[in-house]
Amino acid sequence: MLFSLVPNTPRFEVFRLLNAELLYFLEQAVNTSAFSRALLTRGAVGQACWMNISTRDKFESLFRQLHAAGADTKITLFEAMRDNQDLQAFFGNPQRDLFDFMSASCQAEIKSLCTHLYCSTKDLAPIVRASGGTNITTHFNAFREHTVNGRICKACGMKELAVFRAGVPDGDQWRADYDHQLCKSRYPIFAVHPDNLIPLCDVCNQDAKKAKDLFRHRNGADRLAFYPYAEEAQGSIDIQIDNLRDPEPTIEVNWNTQDATSLDKLNTWDEIYEIRSRVEGQFRSLEAIIEDEIGPRDSIHFVTRIRDEARPVTSDTLKRKEWAFWYQKLFSELDRLDLEPFVAKWNFVHQQGAEGGESILARI
Ligand SMILES: [Zn+2]
Repeated sequence: MLFSLVPNTPRFEVFRLLNAELLYFLEQAVNTSAFSRALLTRGAVGQACWMNISTRDKFESLFRQLHAAGADTKITLFEAMRDNQDLQAFFGNPQRDLFDFMSASCQAEIKSLCTHLYCSTKDLAPIVRASGGTNITTHFNAFREHTVNGRICKACGMKELAVFRAGVPDGDQWRADYDHQLCKSRYPIFAVHPDNLIPLCDVCNQDAKKAKDLFRHRNGADRLAFYPYAEEAQGSIDIQIDNLRDPEPTIEVNWNTQDATSLDKLNTWDEIYEIRSRVEGQFRSLEAIIEDEIGPRDSIHFVTRIRDEARPVTSDTLKRKEWAFWYQKLFSELDRLDLEPFVAKWNFVHQQGAEGGESILARI
């Protein structure tokens, strides 16, 4: 995360209840030999899961697979879920191979049930009623309140979570998709864990992250990741501008820490959300940025405007404005440099342009 989530971030009650239901089911399954209603909680959530045919079928298929696999598998799975409910502790000491003890068919069934709980069961009317009437759109609106996390994606700081439309009731607003920090395919028991689901912008969630594993690089190397509720990258980032005299100066994102654990987490964050390539892509033409963001009239205006844009951005702006963090970083770095050669080059190019325009006008 570029910015950690705020402490008053609401957890989605539907997820809390479904997560508790799944844990209850796995516990009951340990000493039960036949699939029955008693495997689910007695209350409204257990009843809703039982009465919904497709949800019940998923529970039953998993039960049959676990029962066929034997008592050890049932106990180990229950304990794996029970003992890893504290996600902050899990991020500190990730259990990367938590499900390797299970057969492929058991793994497939638990993935199938957990995906179904997330995709379908969460929206059932009796489940939403049991959660005090808060559906996922209501939760999303509460999440992005300005007094809570605000409108900008916490992972990248580059994009709105979802476009807000004036004159549209809260319940009909568009919402962002929820990202499973621990992906469903590798960590299915966290598919409805309330701390595991975070709204992200569509670029972070759908284009960049997909099903990447936070704790293992695709090259097989183990790694650590920021815990989204407590850790963030924003204080560890530098923007470096090189070759300011060249036609196209280069702009790079660097980490300003030597701490090995922090570097590991920063590199994970970068690899998961493709942060550096997105920022360096946005900043590929300094000339265009100067024209679009500053629009200088002359060299004095040029330098004054850069100083303006280099001023710290308020936390309110960071919650509302796309790219605000990154542009402030860029301009504060420009403000630190000797801009004279760059301004002189800019003046030369623009004077030539103006003279060229005047000579064209004179010929008309
Ligand atoms: Zn994002």
